[in-house]
Amino acid sequence: MARSQMNLRVSPQPPDHPVTALKVLHCGRAEQHKEHRYGSRFPPLVWVFFGRSWVPLPLQCFLIEHRDGLVLFDTGIDTAILSDKSYIKQPIGRFLLPWIFRWELTEHDRIDHVLADAGVDASSIKTVVISHLHFDHVGGISQIPQADLLVSDREWAILSEPHPEREWILKEHIELPSAKWQQISFKPTDDPLFEDFEGIHDVVGDGSMMLLPTPGHTPGSMSMLIRQDGWDPILLVGDLTYQADLLEKNILPGTGDKKTLLESFAKVRHLKEKLPNLAIVASHDFAAEEAILQATDSERHDQVRILQ
Ligand SMILES: [Zn+2]
Repeated sequence: MARSQMNLRVSPQPPDHPVTALKVLHCGRAEQHKEHRYGSRFPPLVWVFFGRSWVPLPLQCFLIEHRDGLVLFDTGIDTAILSDKSYIKQPIGRFLLPWIFRWELTEHDRIDHVLADAGVDASSIKTVVISHLHFDHVGGISQIPQADLLVSDREWAILSEPHPEREWILKEHIELPSAKWQQISFKPTDDPLFEDFEGIHDVVGDGSMMLLPTPGHTPGSMSMLIRQDGWDPILLVGDLTYQADLLEKNILPGTGDKKTLLESFAKVRHLKEKLPNLAIVASHDFAAEEAILQATDSERHDQVRILQ
């Protein structure tokens, strides 16, 4: 029997499908040292100054269309870094940055423009989950002043520690008067799925977006598990790894706390043993978009009735 081209959803928004879409937002590109992405037996300052192999680094964040409101996972980079010579206030940071990254940005890579391209007004974002406080993840917060900005309490504590700027956490772009920061504390849970993690935080209370501590890249880095019927579960891991396949092969990046990274890698891989279809999605991974397309392919998951 010939299949019609017409597809009909069983229901446009059944109650067990609170997330209507998950989109990758492309917020520009850069290059980083090969050793930064794939690891090195040398300390960072060696490859920063003597490394000669550069590899591409996409800057991406994620838009989750939830029926309770639009949620953004990270906000990209502030393109003022291109035009404002004093964007990085500390002279040592200004000196080092071009040795670490080569930007391929335009004004259009600012989050409000990127959202507009996706048909979304920045003023309609309700909640932003900040995976960690690095400047290429918080750069868009001034464009989204109405949103609640969720950050882990451990990550926020870095701002009170000596020299957060040495970790590329730049107070002057984080502690904005307009920013509605909300620190979250992970709560213990009896759910065996999360037994490896010190706690969880349920973003809207329906289990569709669960925050998990995955430190190592920074001390308070967190990931977000997105789950709903009909999709493969998806774990947005921020910068825990630069590529999901490296995490699965236990290959560390060139920066971060190695011991803590290895612990978080193991927790994520154990989570994947429990959720075999888990799609692990890293912010700077070119494979992110394809992984999300696969995981949310409603036809593959029998969400779409094909008329025959
Ligand atoms: Zn980072």
